[in-house]
Amino acid sequence: MLVDSHCHLGQIKLTDTMNLDDVLHLARGKGIKGFLSVATDIENAETNYKEQKHHPDVWYSAGIHPLHTKIESDWKTQLAGLVELDQFVAVGETGLDFYYDQASLSQQKQLELFDFHCYLSEQHKKPLIVHTREAKQETVNILKQYNLDQAPGVIHCFTEDWPAAKAFLDLGFYLSFSGIISFKNSQDLRDVLKKVPLERVLVETDSPYLTPMPFRGRSNEPQYVVQVAQAMADVYEIPLEKIAQVTTKNFQQVFKIQLN
Ligand SMILES: [Zn+2]
Ligand SMILES: [Zn+2]
Repeated sequence: MLVDSHCHLGQIKLTDTMNLDDVLHLARGKGIKGFLSVATDIENAETNYKEQKHHPDVWYSAGIHPLHTKIESDWKTQLAGLVELDQFVAVGETGLDFYYDQASLSQQKQLELFDFHCYLSEQHKKPLIVHTREAKQETVNILKQYNLDQAPGVIHCFTEDWPAAKAFLDLGFYLSFSGIISFKNSQDLRDVLKKVPLERVLVETDSPYLTPMPFRGRSNEPQYVVQVAQAMADVYEIPLEKIAQVTTKNFQQVFKIQLN
């Protein structure tokens, strides 16, 4: 039993012969028992829920991605309204991405957005889904200002170094790894992963991005979380079944979800 802890189901490219039901059906056939449908903005959060709610094994987050382009003037009210609803089990994805010089949102705006997501997470005791790139110190600094012990959340698609991993682990966060750990040039990241306690790791696809080996180049889908989990099993040198078991348990713990 595996779980895809982070996928953008609404962004997966569908064709005339392949709809979202087929995509999920394929994944279920490979033993994937749960999907976290992660939002990138308000409208996306609402659409995800509306279009996917007939699937009993899909859960939803509400949040605004740090690289999102247009922010409505009443985004705080809208976001707060979604986060308090039961169907949204997590706040995000949110965070800081200082990688792009010409990012559509200024660093200052990203900080403001992230700060408010942390506030909502603390207030509603719902876990955060954090995206962080080239901004680890700023990310840690903001997280530290909130009391997130009741629902710390996940640093998704973790790609930072060991000191950053340690800082997030010390804050109670889980680290989620994507197909990047299967890439040939990711040895540094695999060395970091090996030091992370098993009881704090998750697997994700981040579909439709970051397709793991040997399918790199195709559009990513939740079924390929098997390859991510296999890459993780290779790093820890333990059986795939063990990775499946612990990451599924961790997923249920961090998102307070009971899988059927
Ligand atoms: Zn992300
Ligand atoms: Zn994502």
